[in-house]
Amino acid sequence: MNILLIQLPPWGIETIPLGLAYVAGALKGHDVDVLDANIALFHHAPELREVYLSQNTVFWEKEVLKYKRFFIDICKDKKYDYVGFNANRFSLPILEIMLPCFPGTIKIVGGPAAQDQNARQKIKADYFVVGEAEEIIANIIDGSEQGVAEYNHKVVIPKKKPDLTVIPDFSKFPLSLYTDTKGIPISFSRGCIRKCAFCSDWATTSPYRSRNAESVIIEMKENSKIFGRKVFSATDLLINGNIPFLDNFSGSLIDQKLKFSWSGQATIRQEMTQPLLEKMRFSGCTFLSYGVESLSDNVLSLMSKGYSSKTAKQVIKNTREAGIEVGVNIVVGFPGESDADIEETLTGLSEIGQYIDTINSLNLCTINAGSVLDIKSSEFGIISGKNKLGMEWEDRHGSNIGVRLRRYGRIMKAAKALGLSPRWSNAPGF
Ligand code: SF4
Repeated sequence: MNILLIQLPPWGIETIPLGLAYVAGALKGHDVDVLDANIALFHHAPELREVYLSQNTVFWEKEVLKYKRFFIDICKDKKYDYVGFNANRFSLPILEIMLPCFPGTIKIVGGPAAQDQNARQKIKADYFVVGEAEEIIANIIDGSEQGVAEYNHKVVIPKKKPDLTVIPDFSKFPLSLYTDTKGIPISFSRGCIRKCAFCSDWATTSPYRSRNAESVIIEMKENSKIFGRKVFSATDLLINGNIPFLDNFSGSLIDQKLKFSWSGQATIRQEMTQPLLEKMRFSGCTFLSYGVESLSDNVLSLMSKGYSSKTAKQVIKNTREAGIEVGVNIVVGFPGESDADIEETLTGLSEIGQYIDTINSLNLCTINAGSVLDIKSSEFGIISGKNKLGMEWEDRHGSNIGVRLRRYGRIMKAAKALGLSPRWSNAPGF
């Protein structure tokens, strides 16, 4: 069978979309082509750089239709047995433009858009894959997986989460077009061991699964040979969910004398000891980004972060002293946060600022659909209403966007005074 896999905008521009690369890897043996329409649009329309940087959702809902011709043209003369789209909810207008460009081709839609029943009702595709597609996609193609009828299409829900044995295939992606010109993406695990109250990622990716160290290293060696790159950026929600993995992985890189560098996101946990961090550094780990969020024990407990401010400060210090650069994320305005909690975070920042290289993000607390904050909003005192989701919410203790912006301003000022201007924020006017 010949199959075209299409990545729709909006998506990250830094590197290859790993989810689609896993699907390409699962289809080895078929004749697979890839069209990354996201990175193609990014290069076609330089005027959209700001839209990509600011994650301007309004643009993707309406104004993207100005680029209709571009999306039709990139599909021209493409004849395939199957076409598979990776789409999110902001991709829907583009999906509606591109689907009719493939008459007579069997159309499969995956990614976050496929999970939305309202979207499925509107979109004219043959199959929707709800969940991780790599263990099911080959069965759809060979006809052994029929799915369940819904409206005018079939819905396929994988019976179990992939065990991470598929190796992603990057060979059909335009690696030189992504903005990270040195790195290659890698994944050590899926899911998360935490259940932070403001986050919905752990729920959609659960359960937590990690690969074995040797298979990750084989993939790194292979891709380094093919692409001539030695820098690996882990896309995991956290790279330290499985400490024995991290220890084995670092040890194997050292034993095999592999001169790779690697980095990723991590959670604060006591097991991030000085000896482990030094081993990681020696194996090539150059940067860890911690979702610290707050240095107030009250707020950390309300968020269900699973660690204390004392542990956070110690792990950050251990990491920097091991020679690994430290990035942190901070969230301001979680329900129940007080001015005294902000003071604690300000004091904590002044204590450990010397060990932090970057504040990756300083964000206002938003309520995300599907998070514990959303599902149990009344337990957090949040007033339900049409503004509940997003950042405009109010609670019964007097928190509102004005209060949160004032607190945000205090943290921002302190961060700048420490020479740590945040790289990203969701605050209006940032
Ligand atoms: S915020 Fe990070 S650590 Fe917490 S649940 Fe989400 S992904 Fe996991």
